[in-house]
Amino acid sequence: MTRIETDFIVVGSGIAGLMTALSLCSSGQVIILTKARQEESNSFRAQGGIAAAIGEGDSPELHREDTLRTGAELCDPASVDLMVHMAPQTIQLLAEWGIPFDQEDGDFALAREGSHSISRILHVSGDSTGAGITSSLLKRAKESQQIEMVTHTMVVDLFMDQGVCKGVFTFDLEHRPACFLARKGVVLATGGCGQLYRYTTNDLVATGDGFAMAYRAGAKLTDMEFIQFHPTALAVEQNPMFLISEAVRGEGAILLNDAGEAFMSRYHEWKDLAPRDVVSRAIYSEMQEGRRVYLDATCLGSRFAKRFPKIYRECLARDIDPAKDWIPVTPAAHFIMGGIRTDLDGQTTIPRLFACGEVACTGVHGANRLASNSLLEGTVFAQRVAQKLASLAPQSLEMEKVDHPPLFIDKQKEFVLKRRIQEIMWNYAGIIRTSSGLLKGLKQLEQLKEEIPVGLFECHNMLVTAQIIIRSALWRQESRGGHYRYDYPETNAEWSTKHYVI
Ligand SMILES: Cc1cc2nc3c(=O)[nH]c(=O)nc-3n(C[C@H](O)[C@H](O)[C@H](O)COP(=O)(O)OP(=O)(O)OC[C@H]3O[C@@H](n4cnc5c(N)ncnc54)[C@H](O)[C@@H]3O)c2cc1C
Repeated sequence: MTRIETDFIVVGSGIAGLMTALSLCSSGQVIILTKARQEESNSFRAQGGIAAAIGEGDSPELHREDTLRTGAELCDPASVDLMVHMAPQTIQLLAEWGIPFDQEDGDFALAREGSHSISRILHVSGDSTGAGITSSLLKRAKESQQIEMVTHTMVVDLFMDQGVCKGVFTFDLEHRPACFLARKGVVLATGGCGQLYRYTTNDLVATGDGFAMAYRAGAKLTDMEFIQFHPTALAVEQNPMFLISEAVRGEGAILLNDAGEAFMSRYHEWKDLAPRDVVSRAIYSEMQEGRRVYLDATCLGSRFAKRFPKIYRECLARDIDPAKDWIPVTPAAHFIMGGIRTDLDGQTTIPRLFACGEVACTGVHGANRLASNSLLEGTVFAQRVAQKLASLAPQSLEMEKVDHPPLFIDKQKEFVLKRRIQEIMWNYAGIIRTSSGLLKGLKQLEQLKEEIPVGLFECHNMLVTAQIIIRSALWRQESRGGHYRYDYPETNAEWSTKHYVI
């Protein structure tokens, strides 16, 4: 087995991983390990933008207020404070690094999205914000002598020595095992777990590996019941599903059912710009009643193609012209608010193990994420992680024989097993949950566990993460943010200070 030593190991090449590596590279050697192509991430798919209080009439306090309100009283105010106050300088830094944020009248163009009380969303090439930011960061990382990017290399477990994280075990594309060791520390920036669900906007890489690996190593996870279902994925069977950004509704598009009714007024006073969980449940309820749901963006006319070029192209490819036709939409799993519990420096409960981005739970999202706060969280906390990690003294990497976990390969079996987990999670731990459904889901996952061969890592990780989500969802006997219990439909003040930690 190959053994490689470096100062810092970063797992993941999304916005959080890249930003961490770039913030660390003046302090030592960084190796980024990523399991597919370097562009394969949810970050690359992000459309709408990144939030920051930089516009006229806006302030970090207002951004804070919107974030806390959307988080349904479960956010950590200190984390939110830190994020909203670091947001303007982070945007400045990204702009200095050459991120081509869209401009209007010589200033940053700012869009409005659901639950934001003011226009504060920066974007790149209209609706290609994630690709715009990520490619610029990738280019910058490539130019750095201190950063090495190792693609198509899956981290399968953390290497622990007496309770301390010292590195990671990997397999590359040719199935060769290796052990990467870090003198300073390991950062998990492995993103979310949308692939746990039958319908999702998340990239195929989002199989929850980081949550499962951290859990196996003994790290604490929290708030895992809170899943955000995006209301408007394009209702065409494919994995991942294509997202119709919330910014389209921000520009005036409205939701209609197949009777032509603008039904959102029946569900919330903010109508189409109500919080995501409300809109998702409203659409889901319409669909449960047997109605199809559409997004009518025809009011944008020819402006649609200019403002949302990527969405326009994707729709046209399916014979839908958003300037004239209603776009069929459906909710889909999109984001997880919970994750590996970290402090304000991204430190997990395991020494030398850090986490940032979607895999971490810094507390900024509470029970529900405010649109465009996720790219922001990744960039802000990556800088915090780097600052802390760089200050640590190097650890000894002397050790006895190291055993690498075995690998099992059977693509067909893997597909079938993954699909079963996805069905279970969609049916029993989805948009509307009940105690009996969650228990049924848990039981089915337990039975499925026996069928997953040792060494089928993504499947195991999906199963472990799914079990954690269901246990957390069973525990929370109320409805709040991204967690809705049909049997406990009210939000209960008693639960506003409680977090499930596992
Ligand atoms: C379609 C879509 C649109 C979105 N739009 C927005 C938006 O407009 N604004 C916003 O704020 N948020 C948006 N989000 C959410 C946001 O994109 C993500 O939350 C964020 O990009 C997560 O960044 P990350 O770096 O934590 O993870 P990711 O970008 O998902 O990166 C994870 C990385 O880890 C790697 N990885 C995972 N497991 C392993 C392993 N075992 N070994 C090695 N590598 C591994 C992956 O290959 C990948 O490189 C959107 C999400 C989606 C899916």
